[in-house]
Amino acid sequence: MKRADLLSRLRSTPRWDVLVVGGGATGLGCAVEAASRGYTTLLLEARDFAKGTSSRSTKLIHGGVRYLAQGRIGLVREALAERALLLANAPHLVHPQRFVVPVYSHLDRLTLGIGLSAYDWLAGPRSLGPSRLLSAGETLALLPTVENHGLLGGIAYMDARFDDARLAISLMRTLLGLGGVALNYLPVEGLCHAGGRVGGVRARDAESGETFEITAQVVINATGVWADQLRQLDEAGLPGRLRPSQGAHLVVDRDFLPGDSALLIPHTRDGRVLFMIPWKGKVLLGTTDTARQDLAEEPRPFREEVDFILDTAARYLPHAPGRSDVRSAFAGLRPLIGGGAGSTASLSREHVIEVSGQGLVSVAGGKWTTYRRMGEEIIDRAAASASLPARASRSRELALHGSTAGPSDDVHGCERPAIDALPGAGVRLHPSLDLREAEVRHAVRHEQARSIEDMLARRHRALFIDAAAALASAPAVAAIMAEELGWTPSQSLEMQEAFRRVAEGFLVDP
Ligand SMILES: Cc1cc2nc3c(=O)[nH]c(=O)nc-3n(C[C@H](O)[C@H](O)[C@H](O)COP(=O)(O)OP(=O)(O)OC[C@H]3O[C@@H](n4cnc5c(N)ncnc54)[C@H](O)[C@@H]3O)c2cc1C
Repeated sequence: MKRADLLSRLRSTPRWDVLVVGGGATGLGCAVEAASRGYTTLLLEARDFAKGTSSRSTKLIHGGVRYLAQGRIGLVREALAERALLLANAPHLVHPQRFVVPVYSHLDRLTLGIGLSAYDWLAGPRSLGPSRLLSAGETLALLPTVENHGLLGGIAYMDARFDDARLAISLMRTLLGLGGVALNYLPVEGLCHAGGRVGGVRARDAESGETFEITAQVVINATGVWADQLRQLDEAGLPGRLRPSQGAHLVVDRDFLPGDSALLIPHTRDGRVLFMIPWKGKVLLGTTDTARQDLAEEPRPFREEVDFILDTAARYLPHAPGRSDVRSAFAGLRPLIGGGAGSTASLSREHVIEVSGQGLVSVAGGKWTTYRRMGEEIIDRAAASASLPARASRSRELALHGSTAGPSDDVHGCERPAIDALPGAGVRLHPSLDLREAEVRHAVRHEQARSIEDMLARRHRALFIDAAAALASAPAVAAIMAEELGWTPSQSLEMQEAFRRVAEGFLVDP
């Protein structure tokens, strides 16, 4: 659907049942939940869908081995149930993944073996296969490049990996398919109060400057680490409750970890776990946990984070990657939740839903894996607070857009024949990227790609896989987008310059 058509639906709809602010995992999950229950639903995103934390995750759909170690059984069980739903409802984007933990001490073998058996048990019938103890030989067969000095064996277990930004795009299209409206580049700049309640928002089209006053029965604040800004527009002087913490990731070539298995490092120097995951023909390494004071729109990994990840990897890989081997480096911000004085906050697992005195529903925290479950809970609360007619959730059985082609590694699922019929189906834009001209046209026409970054960071993951290749392909992408969107030559140059500024943050200085 074209942006102009979505904007005219925005203008012609007098009142929405549910208005969601924020187009990351949480907001999209809420909006799909609301639309699938039959509520008229609008989602507004200030920048691009998944531009915030939701394109910068570790790409795991998981129960969380770390949460298990912390004894948070309910959370793990719930996430494992959601993992099963996602494998069924988005098989084109979520894939089972074997993880291997190499073991160098008898104590680790015992404790990890017990822990991972508990993980299997919690997954119950939804288990993706039992965890098992491996000999040193079996471990090396699965992880040929792992340190073999002192290797006693390993433990293999099953979990799932996914493409986070593509899942966001699939959710956005699912929402449109359900009759909802989702618009990117439409920041919410104010809240409208009527009769002591939040009755809508003021928003601005960042492309044209047009402003909108939009009325809704209930407004949901799903703006991630930026959630305090909207809460404070609702109630001036409200103390902030979010503190961002940064997690960085590095992407290197597959030669450093060949084979199909991911590697889990169970103890890093800072007491966390570190993953090395085969992802899109590369290996993703991460993550870190570094407190930040600011709410950067484009957070960049700190030098110490890059070094920490490389040093940790080097303890397990004798031929470890160095700084010059990093193809892409990216960081995301997780919201850490503090107190919420004077609010009706209720602590629910690891996310918090708050309904303000004026009826603004704010949510923060959680994880990608549980976005659907969170959406269900948030819409229950929102519907009750706005006295919308109660309607049961249908999202457990809702196949997401693109899924009908069944399990494959093709992010476009059932749309592949339509893409292959577009001009430029065979024209590859860069020798080391599997990106074709037709995919750019498709992303503009059907996926709301508005900038080169939308295309190369989130419709295709080039920037996250190989930042230098993404930079090199930008002029070709610009030429196709200019044709599709009618950019002038100077707009095209501005777009390329804007992309260059962002992409440089994904490169690592040697
Ligand atoms: C380093 C890291 C690794 C992670 N790894 C995993 C993992 O492997 N598996 C997993 O399940 N979870 C993982 N998570 C958690 C998961 O990524 C997050 O829980 C999830 O992405 C949060 O989504 P969100 O929608 O709440 O926030 P965001 O994705 O940040 O979305 C908020 C959106 O609101 C928009 N916005 C802000 N202000 C406005 C406004 N005024 N008007 C309109 N829009 C606005 C922003 O532009 C943004 O797009 C990870 C998190 C981090 C930080």
